[in-house]
Amino acid sequence: MKDAKIELNGVKTVVFDLDGTLYNKQGLAARLTSRLWWCLPLLAAERRARKNMHYFRYASQQEFFTAFFRQMARGHWWSIGIAEKWYNHVYMPTMVRLIGRYHRPRPQIIALLDECKRMGLQMAVYSDYGCVEEKMEALGIDTQPFELLVSAPELGALKPSETCAAAVMEMLHAEPETTLFVGDRDEKDGASARAVGARFMLVGND
Ligand SMILES: [Mg+2]
Repeated sequence: MKDAKIELNGVKTVVFDLDGTLYNKQGLAARLTSRLWWCLPLLAAERRARKNMHYFRYASQQEFFTAFFRQMARGHWWSIGIAEKWYNHVYMPTMVRLIGRYHRPRPQIIALLDECKRMGLQMAVYSDYGCVEEKMEALGIDTQPFELLVSAPELGALKPSETCAAAVMEMLHAEPETTLFVGDRDEKDGASARAVGARFMLVGND
């Protein structure tokens, strides 16, 4: 990540990705696997369903998750309802707990957030997962200065959906030429930015 002052030149709106961007998520997948050892087939099904869902988009969050849990249950002994209960009451809460316990915001992100606040820029978080507010709280990041906290599934798809990225821009009344997306994955966050003609800043471990 280059000097924040240079990157923010001419920017009015900054759209942050969450996982891997606000914090370094190294080790999270392994911790989830070790914590959820008793339900590894469900965990594997979640990861597979997530991959498959990249090809589809839906009209609403409800339609997205109906299809998602159907994918999770396909070919397995558990029902769609069990997949849903596990995801909402086991998987996501465990992820939030692990983030709070083992992960901290990236120092360069703290500096960037401070600079955005100092410059009075509009800020948003656009995640590929749910529980955005819970994760931010677990990380100790004040959600108050953010205009919008939203996930792609809430908008009916996964990143890098052009429709979802455009919906985020619309909700923020943001213009592409003055908007910067910040993320850890070029193929998701960078592609989202490019889909709406916004700028992109890649955040990495170096
Ligand atoms: Mg990410």
